[in-house]
Amino acid sequence: MNKQKALLIIKPDGVQRGLCGAILKRFEQTGLTIIGFKFLQAPEQTIRDHYPSTDVWYGKVGQRTLTNYAKKGIDVKKQFGTEDPIEIGKTVKGWLVTFFQESPVLVAAVEGHEAIEIVRKLSGNTIPILAAAGTVRGDYSHDTIDLANAQFRPLRNIIHASDSVEDGEKEVHLWFKDDEIFSYKRADEELMFPPQR
Ligand code: ATP
Ligand code: MG
Repeated sequence: MNKQKALLIIKPDGVQRGLCGAILKRFEQTGLTIIGFKFLQAPEQTIRDHYPSTDVWYGKVGQRTLTNYAKKGIDVKKQFGTEDPIEIGKTVKGWLVTFFQESPVLVAAVEGHEAIEIVRKLSGNTIPILAAAGTVRGDYSHDTIDLANAQFRPLRNIIHASDSVEDGEKEVHLWFKDDEIFSYKRADEELMFPPQR
């Protein structure tokens, strides 16, 4: 088994729409073990620490806007005053900090075989309009980059899911204290992953 930890956050749009139970069910039924769980008003600093402050991350986020605006023929400079993806990424991070404080969020730490690939698969594409049917973002949102950016807000894509093993570990430690993380076996674990004979 390749056990990994991942962090899930049901963002304020998911909480305010009453989707916590429906979303969590999908991760539980696929076999992931919930090892930490809390509902809280996220502190500003935790949100700032959660999303990277690196040029690589800012650039990735800003590039989404550039790609979408080019496709739709929208003038990015008119909206953002710049064509620099890093500067646009910084603006989006500011929006995320405000958005995450709109309501409490539900934070869950999960663990299981190939957990990172599973949480990303079940969450779907970051941009809801592109997310496949059957994924959380595809089933519950159809937001687009151009609408979100025109309204000076991040994509309302309902869920956060860790996107690498390192980030999974880091994010679980950021949101949970050591004694808030639990170790136990799900009843179906031995059936799914029998010990080597
Ligand atoms: P998350 O980290 O929330 O799971 P992700 O890994 O799919 O999402 P990131 O690139 O880390 O995507 O971006 C973090 C969040 O910022 C996205 O989930 C989305 O809400 C928002 N976001 C990213 N890029 C843009 C953009 N260009 N315009 C508006 N919002 C964006
Ligand atoms: Mg991310």
